[in-house]
Amino acid sequence: MERFDTVKRNLEQRGFAVRTFATAGEAAAYLDGAIDGKTVGVGGSVTVEQLGLYELLEKHNTVIWHWRREDKAGARREAMDTDVYLSSANGLAESGEIINIDGIGNRVGATLFGHEKVYFVIGRNKLAPTYDEALWRARNVASPKNARKLGKKTPCAVKGDRCYDCKSPERICRGLVTLWGPMMGMEMEVVLIDEDLGL
Ligand code: SF4
Repeated sequence: MERFDTVKRNLEQRGFAVRTFATAGEAAAYLDGAIDGKTVGVGGSVTVEQLGLYELLEKHNTVIWHWRREDKAGARREAMDTDVYLSSANGLAESGEIINIDGIGNRVGATLFGHEKVYFVIGRNKLAPTYDEALWRARNVASPKNARKLGKKTPCAVKGDRCYDCKSPERICRGLVTLWGPMMGMEMEVVLIDEDLGL
């Protein structure tokens, strides 16, 4: 897929496996086939929700997702210790860096340690030409949208235009992780989809 040629090459040079798909449905079918008989943790992700991955995977895997559990804190902890982990990204640089911002830390923590394999499921809207632009996107597009979705009383959620680097007690941006490459001892695969997905 031409749109992803450069980022695919750069991700692969960094050690990430990469698959590209035209549609969310094709990507979901691929992941449904690739992940079987595993324990699977899932980070908070509108993209994963849009692909319907929980419902597909739970038929033949044990899937732990706090978005589907009453005991959210327990689910977040359990999901740290699974075979496979699924996340999206808040920003992806054409040069191959994957950027995520987190408030609680389960999602970014799980992408750093504790799994055999992590899949990043990423729509085309997360892609930016440079690292600085991908970081800008993560901070000024993804996080304000997320704060608004969560109903936070932060300036970004009220105005919906950009990050104010707020010092609000409700600030959702507490930690930032940039992956320059797969962490040692973990396989990482990036599933790129040529549709706008997630925040
Ligand atoms: S730091 Fe504050 S203003 Fe900026 S995106 Fe996060 S919650 Fe919103």
